[in-house]
Amino acid sequence: MTARPAARVRADACPGALQTHAAADGALARVRVPGGLLTGDRLRALAAAARELGDGALELTSRGNVQLRGLADGAGTELGERLAAAGLLPSAPHERVRNVLASALTGRVGGHLDVRPWVRALDAGICADPALTALPGRYLATLDDGRGDVAGLGGDVGLLALPAAEVALTLAGTDSGLRVHPDHAVPVALAATRAFLDERAAQGGTAWRLGELDDGPRRVVERISSTGERHLVGVDRSRGPEAPRPGHGQRLGTTGGRHVAAVSPGGRRCDDGLVALVAVVPLGRLAAEQADLLAGLADEVQLTPWRSVVVPDLPDDSAAARLTDAGLVLDPGSAWSRVTACAGRPGCAKSLADVRADAARAVVGGTLPAGGARQHWAGCERRCGRPRGEVVDVVATGTGYRVGWS
Ligand code: SF4
Repeated sequence: MTARPAARVRADACPGALQTHAAADGALARVRVPGGLLTGDRLRALAAAARELGDGALELTSRGNVQLRGLADGAGTELGERLAAAGLLPSAPHERVRNVLASALTGRVGGHLDVRPWVRALDAGICADPALTALPGRYLATLDDGRGDVAGLGGDVGLLALPAAEVALTLAGTDSGLRVHPDHAVPVALAATRAFLDERAAQGGTAWRLGELDDGPRRVVERISSTGERHLVGVDRSRGPEAPRPGHGQRLGTTGGRHVAAVSPGGRRCDDGLVALVAVVPLGRLAAEQADLLAGLADEVQLTPWRSVVVPDLPDDSAAARLTDAGLVLDPGSAWSRVTACAGRPGCAKSLADVRADAARAVVGGTLPAGGARQHWAGCERRCGRPRGEVVDVVATGTGYRVGWS
């Protein structure tokens, strides 16, 4: 049995768009982007806010969200007004709890179904329920169309499409054994989310994640089942629990548990004959000018948890050169696709180094440690933003960097 973390003694303090964090380089705002899905207009609005109120760039997070840094004192009010006008703040009281990951390229190529309608319905369901404002800012939902790319990313509640119009409910990253029809999947995910809060209240404390509760997944299943959740279409515990592999994803309930890689950069021919480009954003910092370029290419882009951007619905791949010229990376073999970094200096007062500058120098100079393996650079042992899965840690010590697997 996996050891449970010590009980939380305080509520989480995850930043939001309105509840900003005081960083060393000014206020930091985190804007939730359910499913990573952004219309061109919304991306333009974010780019303008970064340019006019922040440090000129958008930071992509490991949950497909966006951060603005370096906000001046008093800029928070204007930022909130701009986000609301752009439709990026549908419910101010829920702004920190709309953490929803969706399969990259869903509805375009691969997967058993298009989970974008799930994204919209789940987000609307969260925002419509005042009780769900009590969710922690770290609570995460994963909506996986069956390709297995986000099911393994540690969601508290997750939907994983299976063949034959069936969906698995995952809880704390493991298969709950519950199956539901796709049309009823979102109400079940919302029921599981409410059950998390009910179980947390029953156990006391301020758990931030479902996995922190005593026997959390099983008790959530019991709560859903005991309320007579009418959408459940069968409980098949013979298939699970079967944990998805972090960072890669695993199909639950299918034979073989085939592993699939997270979306890699480059171009994809989609089912409708159009092309989707996947571009890595080096170290997750998307300059406002780069964001404007992306917004001009497609009506909707998708941010991924791997600090990349999907630009879909293109007639061909001729835009690839423009993205590359702008500093985005489409080469699947590029070292940029294997390197992530925390904010480091000067943005974080805890940092012992300017890790982004050091990591960038190592990429450009071809001197990445560990033979250039997938790695995360951090300014201290907290290792913020570390991707899940097998990653080499490159941690500042004050006198250099400690390199090692953990
Ligand atoms: S890992 Fe440490 S240095 Fe980096 S952002 Fe987090 S707290 Fe700051």
